[in-house]
Amino acid sequence: MKLAVASGKGGTGKTTIAVNLARVLAEEGPVQFIDCDVEEPNAHFFLKPSLDTEREVSILVPVIDRVLCNGCGECVKACAFNAIAVLGHKALVFAEICHGCGGCARVCPTKAITEQPNRLGVVSTGPAGNIFFVEGRIDVGTPLSVPVTKGARREIKEQDGIVILDAPPGTTCPVVAAVAGCDYVLLVTEPTPFGLNDLKLAVELVRELDIPHGVVINRADIGDQGVEEFCRREGISIHLRIPFERQFAETIAHGGLLVDAFPAWRPKFQALWHKIQEEVTV
Ligand code: SF4
Ligand code: SF4
Repeated sequence: MKLAVASGKGGTGKTTIAVNLARVLAEEGPVQFIDCDVEEPNAHFFLKPSLDTEREVSILVPVIDRVLCNGCGECVKACAFNAIAVLGHKALVFAEICHGCGGCARVCPTKAITEQPNRLGVVSTGPAGNIFFVEGRIDVGTPLSVPVTKGARREIKEQDGIVILDAPPGTTCPVVAAVAGCDYVLLVTEPTPFGLNDLKLAVELVRELDIPHGVVINRADIGDQGVEEFCRREGISIHLRIPFERQFAETIAHGGLLVDAFPAWRPKFQALWHKIQEEVTV
């Protein structure tokens, strides 16, 4: 069972939901937690893993042999990302926007293109109590995050318990890389017009990917009824509503878990899991 916890925008409490769920589930069996929010991974702040293994994530980018290059421009035509150009009758690579697809090297008629690794980030792994913890993190200034997300997902041990993926916020390619192939996506939102707008985009995305999904409303008592009405109209289950509480905010700010600091929330997160399971098996 792979569950992605996602959100149409940042700051909704997505990671809070993911880490608390991981903690209660880890008491019943093996859990793998994959922090796919590779631009700003922060689940480690709550689950406090001992990260003892680190792997670099790189892609192969082209290198031009200026002697062999005749400036024909075939590589430019082959590149869908405008990462290569011909200037002064020689090809020039913009490595920072290259996606490492290898298309240019395949079409070069003079074999002027070789490839060399370009590091994008790292994937770290290690235990966090009973949880096998994986964190993807891109290097500062790297605009390409999807290969690092995929690198983090490659650490998943299939058939080894529940997998919780903390997806990046938004609805673009990095989110697709995190949620694709999951059995369920839990969408975390807040009851504001902005929250509703981003939830609608996120719902569109998961429907497009044909993944079952449900909603958690965070700070449920501070906004309006728009999210509730939208979910009712669209037939989307709201599995959990978390009110705004100053003590919750303080606990989270100090890296604490709600299910540890407020034991009354343990059964609520357990019930959240059971509701998700019911929807996956229907
Ligand atoms: S395809 Fe090869 S020879 Fe032609 S411009 Fe590109 S690198 Fe140069
Ligand atoms: S490897 Fe792909 S993305 Fe990079 S320059 Fe070549 S064709 Fe463009």
